[in-house]
Amino acid sequence: MDRTLFDAEHEMFRDSVRAFIDKEVGPHNDAWERAGIVDRRLFTRAGANGFLGMAAPEELGGGGVADFRYNVVIAEEVQRGGVNAAGLGWTLHNDICLPYFLSLCTPEQQARWLPGICSGELITAIAMTEPGIGSDLASMTTSAIRDGDHYVVNGSKTFITNGINADLVITAVKTNPAERHAGMSLLVLERGMDGFERGRNLEKIGMHAQDTAELFFTDVRVPVENRLGDEGSGFRSLVTKLPQERLSIAVTAVATARVALDQTLGYVKERTAFGIPVGSFQNSRFRLAEMATEIEIAQTFTDRCVLGLNAGTLTAEEAAMAKWWCTELAKRVVDTCLQLHGGYGYMLEYPIARAYADTRITTIYGGTTEIMKEIIGKSLGV
Ligand SMILES: Cc1cc2nc3c(=O)[nH]c(=O)nc-3n(C[C@H](O)[C@H](O)[C@H](O)COP(=O)(O)OP(=O)(O)OC[C@H]3O[C@@H](n4cnc5c(N)ncnc54)[C@H](O)[C@@H]3O)c2cc1C
Repeated sequence: MDRTLFDAEHEMFRDSVRAFIDKEVGPHNDAWERAGIVDRRLFTRAGANGFLGMAAPEELGGGGVADFRYNVVIAEEVQRGGVNAAGLGWTLHNDICLPYFLSLCTPEQQARWLPGICSGELITAIAMTEPGIGSDLASMTTSAIRDGDHYVVNGSKTFITNGINADLVITAVKTNPAERHAGMSLLVLERGMDGFERGRNLEKIGMHAQDTAELFFTDVRVPVENRLGDEGSGFRSLVTKLPQERLSIAVTAVATARVALDQTLGYVKERTAFGIPVGSFQNSRFRLAEMATEIEIAQTFTDRCVLGLNAGTLTAEEAAMAKWWCTELAKRVVDTCLQLHGGYGYMLEYPIARAYADTRITTIYGGTTEIMKEIIGKSLGV
């Protein structure tokens, strides 16, 4: 089915991103996977090539084009290049963190932060989850109590993507701990602030090149000028921005599934058993046919969502539908593809093995499948 999402400029952009990944990411990927973190130069090199902050104003170092299709191209090329974990911090920076800086910052904050975000010298993260809460955000306990021109922040966060590398951490806090949603605000915590410490780079079953970390805050004095948006508006800001985060995850999931299917098709045509290619068994053909069908359907829906996001019409429910369905699909597809590889699928030298471990998280982060269904269910009046 012809895909009509992209124009010629996106395809040119794709060629450049592909060349960048092949030259600047792929060759380092195994070392970064072993180290549990990417070199910060990934960000500065991406920035120098125009692959960060595409939607930020040109005069502040960005690309000046608010078109999520460029983000989609990067997500797809990251999957094609098999550098999922290294790419996660990059797409988080562009797709998930940047929108907060673009829509909630004052001109002074934008001038302070956007040039570094676009050049890759300032790496971003967003910290919502705490050791005691994830899905139930309004129960968070990290507090930020006003003291003159500062907030005094105490608490901790966990599972934070880019947690070790990040210079600017958009941190969800309670400026009024007595309230639930209405007590939440967003503060930008900066590397080097007294009392802001990193914990462990957490050991995970997949996404090894991604630094996922604990953050600890002890009496961190954060200037009021580091607040994003009004006091008490934090939950509202998150609700407005989470659809883009969820669509970004969905787009990646469809790309993961497509790459897994392509790789598997190559494998099952070559590998033989009982004198014929393993892809020729009726079971294999049916499974491959099912996956090809579902991927086309998922692609069509996410492409529609991308256009909706660009037009400002994507709803929270549509983003939730894309997120849960596409990530569950990716999980299923990668599992089936691994099965079709037989024992070789379990060997890390085959990309499907790494994809299997990397994909598992996608139905959990960015809001679990169950929470997505809650969002959709509520909109149905049940
Ligand atoms: C690799 C990785 C990267 C991450 N990156 C970030 C990041 O950058 N920033 C950040 O803030 N967080 C991040 N997270 C955290 C992630 O968003 C949370 O793990 C996720 O939201 C789920 O929260 P939880 O782990 O506390 O699970 P819980 O909320 O404890 O949920 C446990 C189980 O209960 C279910 N459940 C909970 N509530 C309901 C309900 N109402 N109805 C039905 N079922 C329910 C859940 O679906 C889940 O199956 C990351 C996590 C990982 C593992």
